[in-house]
Amino acid sequence: MDTMTEATREAMEYDVVIVGAGPAGLSAAIRLKQLDENLEVVVLEKGSEVGAHILSGAVLDPSGLDALIPDWKDKGAPLGTPVTEDRFRILGKNGHVGIPTSLMPPLMSNHGCYIVSMGNVCRWMAEQAEELGVDIFPGMACSELLYDADGRVSGVVAGEMGLAKDGTPGPNYEPGMELHGRYVMLAEGARGSLSKQAIARYGLDANSDPQKYGIGMKELWEVRPENHRPGLVEHTMGWPLGGNAGGGSFMYHLDNNQVYVGFVVHLNYENPHLYPYMEFQRWKHEPSVAKVLEGGKRVSFGARAIAEGGWQSLPKLTFPGGVLLGCAAGMVNVPRIKGNHNAMLSGKAAAEAAFEAIGADRRQDELDDYEWIVRVRDIGRDLKSVRSVKPLWSDYGMTASLVGGGIDMWVSSLLRGIGISGVSLLPFLRHKKSDAEATGRAKRFDPIDYPKPDGVLSFDRATNVAYSFTNHEDSQPSHLRLTDPSIPIEVNLKRYDEPAQRYCPVGVYEVVRDEDGSNPRFQINFQNCIHCKTCDIKDPSQNITWTVPQGGDGPNYPNM
Ligand SMILES: Cc1cc2nc3c(=O)[nH]c(=O)nc-3n(C[C@H](O)[C@H](O)[C@H](O)COP(=O)(O)OP(=O)(O)OC[C@H]3O[C@@H](n4cnc5c(N)ncnc54)[C@H](O)[C@@H]3O)c2cc1C
Ligand code: SF4
Repeated sequence: MDTMTEATREAMEYDVVIVGAGPAGLSAAIRLKQLDENLEVVVLEKGSEVGAHILSGAVLDPSGLDALIPDWKDKGAPLGTPVTEDRFRILGKNGHVGIPTSLMPPLMSNHGCYIVSMGNVCRWMAEQAEELGVDIFPGMACSELLYDADGRVSGVVAGEMGLAKDGTPGPNYEPGMELHGRYVMLAEGARGSLSKQAIARYGLDANSDPQKYGIGMKELWEVRPENHRPGLVEHTMGWPLGGNAGGGSFMYHLDNNQVYVGFVVHLNYENPHLYPYMEFQRWKHEPSVAKVLEGGKRVSFGARAIAEGGWQSLPKLTFPGGVLLGCAAGMVNVPRIKGNHNAMLSGKAAAEAAFEAIGADRRQDELDDYEWIVRVRDIGRDLKSVRSVKPLWSDYGMTASLVGGGIDMWVSSLLRGIGISGVSLLPFLRHKKSDAEATGRAKRFDPIDYPKPDGVLSFDRATNVAYSFTNHEDSQPSHLRLTDPSIPIEVNLKRYDEPAQRYCPVGVYEVVRDEDGSNPRFQINFQNCIHCKTCDIKDPSQNITWTVPQGGDGPNYPNM
């Protein structure tokens, strides 16, 4: 930061500064004000409005909301569609097998859960927070952590706007603000950009396994009334991924003839020719899936990384002056594909720890009680009981994970029924490599031939990106930074056929050539980025760093 910029920035003082208005950040804000209405709390959100960047499934386990706002029904929370039926199927090339719900471990049941738009749940939570007196500033991307003289986090910089292409202040430059707090809570979701810096600076992952991720892609469809079954939750595994990657699909029927249709690909896939977006598109042509969508229309599209490492990848959650909340630390129960309840519970726990600390006139130290609550109470138990299911899949494949993980989750469910939680019978399996390291050399694998999208059920990326309503001011520098600009062509293209061309769900990265096919160059169409963070995670050379663009830019998801 140059001194001119530093000198012209205004500062605001708060008790707690929260980065990110997702379920984790908003829960922390609400809980702080429930505990003491005089606390000064601010939530900063990079989306143009709360919910604009929220992308989740989502089947919501209401346990987090029950703990935070027990009368959420009376307060009009948008949880309008209770789950009425669970279906689970294994797809093959030539058909499918349904697994009876009676065979599914009770842990996997969605009974008592709700099909929701988490974007709308967050919009409603923001209203609750504002009624309690929380300051919520959307369109404020947090670009820097601030440190005090002792190296403790003391605040953030938010809202810097108007940089020119070369990174210098442009004609409409706004230096942004400094938001100072006794504590800073990073609630940025999976692979948060400031969280990544805090994890590195304080070595928070020194004793945990590498974090693992999936890319989750999702479309909202309006289907014909006769194809709509409100409350139906359906998951599949198998085709089209087969042995190429772990993952699977979801289809959640909400209200008003709307269906959430989504597909997750685990990012530890080896074959760099794999094209997650096209796997999603071709899955929609499976006959039973196509039957639901036929005659309907796709209303919106988006994608977001999902943290999948679970218990063993949970980093240390506290650092001097702050904490990691929710998926900034990775609190998803992977077999259940649920993290929103834990995000809410983590926000609540961090708020309670901060409230105690502030009451004792502490500041900028470590909120150890928060770490303890997460590890030994509900979140820890939830994550521990399924901790080996994902590594079992990574090491031994889908069938081993289904059978071994299934038996293990059955036993966990039975033990939970008699009051013993967080137990797994499987050996403690570890995540050995990061998803970037898992990527194999292109020459070891055959390219995959993907059918061309038909424009009816399946769409190319250039068409679908318009349905994310993303936008980035063209005059700013690219927020996708290459540490070494030569690596995409000199290393990644030669070794891995530059997988960025395929793993980015909206085609931000292209290798362009002259007409005769010579002179390959790496092109970054940053305007299309939908902030999924996959490039930051999967680039095999770890040469791409996702940073925040100016506030308000990025997708504008209506009700994802
Ligand atoms: C495809 C998919 C399906 C899923 N399905 C389910 C499901 O059915 N049920 C379930 O419970 N969970 C599901 N999950 C997981 C769930 O979405 C996450 O566990 C949850 O979103 C975590 O909440 P969070 O508040 O930690 O982060 P997020 O929900 O990611 O929220 C983070 C917020 O912080 C903002 N932000 C980030 N960085 C900055 C910054 N530097 N400055 C300002 N703002 C910033 C973002 O814009 C965003 O609004 C799914 C996830 C995906 C991707
Ligand atoms: S550029 Fe990166 S963060 Fe943006 S959409 Fe593509 S993969 Fe996701």
